[in-house]
Amino acid sequence: MAPPTTSTFLDAGDMRRLVRHEGLAAFTAAVAARIEREFLRWEDFDKRARTAAYGPEGVIELMPVADRTQFAFKYVNGHPGNTRRGLPTVMAFGVLADMATGTPRLLAELSLLTAIRTAAMSALAARRLARPGSRTMALIGNGAQSEFQALAFRDLVGIRTLRLHDTDPAATDKLVANLRHQGLALHRAATAEAACAGADIVTTATADPRHAAVLRAGMVAPGTHVNAIGGDSPGKTELDPALLADAAVFVEYAPQTRVEGEIQQMPADFPVTEFWRVLAGMHPGRRDAAQVTVFDSVGFALEDLAALAHAAEVAQRLGIGRPIALVASPADPKDLFGLLSVPAQAGVQAATEAA
Ligand code: NAD
Repeated sequence: MAPPTTSTFLDAGDMRRLVRHEGLAAFTAAVAARIEREFLRWEDFDKRARTAAYGPEGVIELMPVADRTQFAFKYVNGHPGNTRRGLPTVMAFGVLADMATGTPRLLAELSLLTAIRTAAMSALAARRLARPGSRTMALIGNGAQSEFQALAFRDLVGIRTLRLHDTDPAATDKLVANLRHQGLALHRAATAEAACAGADIVTTATADPRHAAVLRAGMVAPGTHVNAIGGDSPGKTELDPALLADAAVFVEYAPQTRVEGEIQQMPADFPVTEFWRVLAGMHPGRRDAAQVTVFDSVGFALEDLAALAHAAEVAQRLGIGRPIALVASPADPKDLFGLLSVPAQAGVQAATEAA
């Protein structure tokens, strides 16, 4: 029988196989449903803002969350200059552990899963906050997150037309090629302003380490829902404060978003609503068809717990992943030192050879 401390390891190839086997649409829908379920248990979780190490090139963050039975954490970076070095902007891995014993149960690649859970979360928020019947979305920033956002909004929100803009035309070329046969009408726009024309929803997914103002107040029509995912650390924002001032702003976990999100630009008492309240029926969400709503997304640990828990279930069902001895497991748990002692016979032989 496997020792009780055995963990399951899902590397990047395993995660790719797992998502391909389920199909991206089904996997994203399942993660969205799981996030909704966990957000409806908001009070059950021990929550905190993530810790971050900021360097001149980017940030490395640790994101923990726990309830009475499970603990999860994600390691994730954000380095907007990485793509110039041939590296992704965002890379991640995560752990699921038992609260009862502290045993790590799953160690998994999370870059792919981060894109999926971010898109699932964005779509979940838009489904409640965007005007019903929204069909056209502007997608500004056409990098690694963009296809996942586009497809989640197609499947979970009903978006049929995308208006695309990126300062790097090659990124839009890649996005258009990847979405060619996905049943979406694709229109390229030379500027962010042009992309926003006629859009019911605007998603900003840019990577730029400064207060960038990708969207200004005059660029979005009354009634637009803004899904802002790219502004997610201090000094890195996408929206003009004037746009926020006149909008209804929804966040994941306010203590974290006030430091990292678009609202870092606003006074400390700027009114925001945690999105779980909308899901729980404690807040109506959008007030009327003319209101601009903003989902100021920075990414919250509970979304990763939901994604990891779903991946663990699928992996077990499909037999993907392999057992690893991630932590030492001495036969006598009080004799950790014993793991270092050379078995008696081998010790005698080694001494004989040395002589
Ligand atoms: P990426 O580097 O692959 O793509 C970003 C794209 O934005 C690039 O193609 C770049 O050319 C474009 N861009 C930069 N400035 C622009 C501007 N002013 N106008 C238009 N386009 C511009 O990065 P990614 O992995 O797609 O991530 C995008 C952003 O989303 C990053 O800032 C990342 O930190 C953030 N992110 C947030 C969450 C969340 O949960 N909120 C999760 C994952 C990533």
